[in-house]
Amino acid sequence: MNKEQVIQWLQNFAAEIEQNKEYLTELDAAIGDADHGINMDRGFKKVASQLSSVADKDISTILKTVSMTLISTVGGASGPLYGTFFLRASTAVTGKEELATEDLLKLLQAGLEGVVQRGKAHLGDKTMIDVLLPVVDSFQQSVDNNKNILETMQQVVLVAEQAMKETILMLAKKGRASYLGDRSIGHQDPGATSTYLMLKSLLATLE
Ligand code: ADP
Ligand code: MG
Ligand code: MG
Repeated sequence: MNKEQVIQWLQNFAAEIEQNKEYLTELDAAIGDADHGINMDRGFKKVASQLSSVADKDISTILKTVSMTLISTVGGASGPLYGTFFLRASTAVTGKEELATEDLLKLLQAGLEGVVQRGKAHLGDKTMIDVLLPVVDSFQQSVDNNKNILETMQQVVLVAEQAMKETILMLAKKGRASYLGDRSIGHQDPGATSTYLMLKSLLATLE
């Protein structure tokens, strides 16, 4: 994955968020405060507007810029969490001009660790972790089986989609949805859904 593809990924993700802005907000209306699509769209519109000005920078710097922009524009729970994801992702690929499959694994792994440290959520708490964690496991397995980056991401997106759907039956233990207790059951988690879109956008740049 080269730098142009990293930029393409971020553009695709911004477009996916824009297309799914209402959907994400509806999901958040059911178990939160109806702003996840609005928050993410605000942040990624700003990210998209900055991409041309950082296109000549290295991958790590590009990801760090994304992080800073998300932290300063998104707000809510998802701003610091996505901001941390991209900040850790950026430090995991310092000095890389191109990302091999193993580098992309390190990027996702570091991002996941950042979100866990920041948000303290566990598997099954009905958050973005419920997509990120199985995704990193699936990615690791593909790397262990010497799959190429495209095969790896195709499998990862299938895993992510399934994991996103599995949040429907979970009882929220973190974030605003946790205030609902049992009433959070039966609704898909907004953050897990935007995380799936992030991975789907990544695959789209490789196809
Ligand atoms: P807010 O809840 O502040 O309005 P958003 O609506 O933008 O923020 O984001 C909500 C999403 O953030 C949730 O659907 C969930 O996936 C994610 N989230 C909330 N708290 C945590 C946490 N502690 N760890 C990981 N993800 C979390
Ligand atoms: Mg919200
Ligand atoms: Mg909010």
